[in-house]
Amino acid sequence: MTEQFSRAYWEQRLAGLSLARGHFIDGKVEPARSGRTFTRTRPMDGKPGAVLAQGDVQDVDLAVASARKAFASGVWRGREPLEKKKVMLRWAELIRAHGEELALLETLDVGKPVQASLGVDVRLCADGIQYYGEMIDKMYDEIAPTGPKARALVRKVPLGVIAAITPWNYPMIIDAWKLGPAIAAGNSVVLKPAEQSSLSALKLAELAVEAGLPVGVFNVVTGFGEEVGKPLALHQDVDMVAFTGSTEVGKLVMGYAAQSNLKRVALELGGKSPLVVFEDADLDAAASAAAWGCFYNSGETCHAATRLVVQRSVQDELIGKIEAVVKREIALAHPFEPSAQIGALIEAEHMEKVLGLIATGEKDGGRRAFGAERVLSETGGYYVSPGVITDVTNDMRIARQEIFGPVLAAIAFDTEEEALAIANDTIYGLAGAVFTRDMDRAHRFSESIHAGTVWINTYDMSNFATPFGGFKQSGFGRDRSVHAIDKYCDYKTIWQQFN
Ligand code: NAP
Repeated sequence: MTEQFSRAYWEQRLAGLSLARGHFIDGKVEPARSGRTFTRTRPMDGKPGAVLAQGDVQDVDLAVASARKAFASGVWRGREPLEKKKVMLRWAELIRAHGEELALLETLDVGKPVQASLGVDVRLCADGIQYYGEMIDKMYDEIAPTGPKARALVRKVPLGVIAAITPWNYPMIIDAWKLGPAIAAGNSVVLKPAEQSSLSALKLAELAVEAGLPVGVFNVVTGFGEEVGKPLALHQDVDMVAFTGSTEVGKLVMGYAAQSNLKRVALELGGKSPLVVFEDADLDAAASAAAWGCFYNSGETCHAATRLVVQRSVQDELIGKIEAVVKREIALAHPFEPSAQIGALIEAEHMEKVLGLIATGEKDGGRRAFGAERVLSETGGYYVSPGVITDVTNDMRIARQEIFGPVLAAIAFDTEEEALAIANDTIYGLAGAVFTRDMDRAHRFSESIHAGTVWINTYDMSNFATPFGGFKQSGFGRDRSVHAIDKYCDYKTIWQQFN
């Protein structure tokens, strides 16, 4: 570890930061029209953090008008593809160049280790913008088969104004998953970050303009879901809402679209993903995947493997190995500590929810094998240690409800048929995994788990080339990959008849 990344280094950088922020509308920092602000509480120590503009419908109207003006003028969508590509690549480079500041802002807001913010979140955010920037001058339209008397062009055209509503768990990465394809396709965007995690979004907008993105193409309105997200999703001049968040709010967003102008909706929602381990599996590999797959980011991951579905004969051995992985590799500490692999939960209320669900799991008959309790309370921050609850059955609340904390519910099975039934017995369908040395079974099983991504003998491996999203109540529409562009466009036919 270099001296540069010591705890003192980050403390010093933080001391030099001013943390009052406005919206970013039409290329400018703007206070809320109402003059209202709200103060974020830092998850790492419970102290006051950023002071942000508390937006409402007036700010939403201004941001949407700016986005519409930019779209209608063609200032971005009408530009040469090569030029647009250069702007997005410059933007990606600026994100990398400001990586330390972005990492610090993200960690202040969400409490994850700053090394993870820098090494994972900033990196994947920049990579995402670059990936879609590189696509811009490689997309072709089509000519449909007609007779010689006609020519039909099938053009893929941008939709217009996109509302992006995002959550707090991986703010920068998820923002890039939406901004990259939406802007590469030629749309304008109004982004509403979660109230807990606005700082990185505001910085991304500032860097976009510095990179040459025309004003109005990317606006950010900060504030609360009811006051900013709802009017955005209800707005008559928004063409699509791309939402990532809970299934509960996703349902509301779909309703707002239906009540207003039938804007398109894409929903990336919650999960309760199963990691299935058969007795013939490499148990060390399975333990490592189960521990990191559930506890990374303090379990605040939509596709966290929160249900360990394990063959009864190897259950105790596997849980012992998971505990060893936690002790050896997954240090929980203040997010500025170089040793920290996981940090704080997002806020006090959420921590209480996680602790409440653990208590319910125990009351329902689950047994705490290790961890899963509040720690470091003397810091004033919101820390829960990684832990496993065993003796869980799939009908218990701890097996059904998304926990969004570092807690694994272990459910034992005896037969393959039973394992598959448990894996699929959930309202969600975001991800899953199977661990076995029997490759026939691995493929049979992975085809049968009804989820957007299924891993074989690993967990959470991916890259930008692979689509990400869910089935069932985990939503619809896919982020990442070349296919993500499709949801921000639609086909337009231009038919020319020759005489
Ligand atoms: P959330 O409570 O659903 O909030 C998501 C966003 O929606 C926030 O910006 C929130 O604003 C806003 N919102 C809240 N109420 C709204 C309303 N009535 N109308 C419009 N917008 C509204 O989710 P979260 O707690 O931030 O994030 C955790 C959830 O996200 C988990 O369920 C997780 O599984 C899911 N997630 C899914 C994926 C995926 O790719 N499938 C990825 C990451 C997270 P405020 O917070 O400001 O109120």
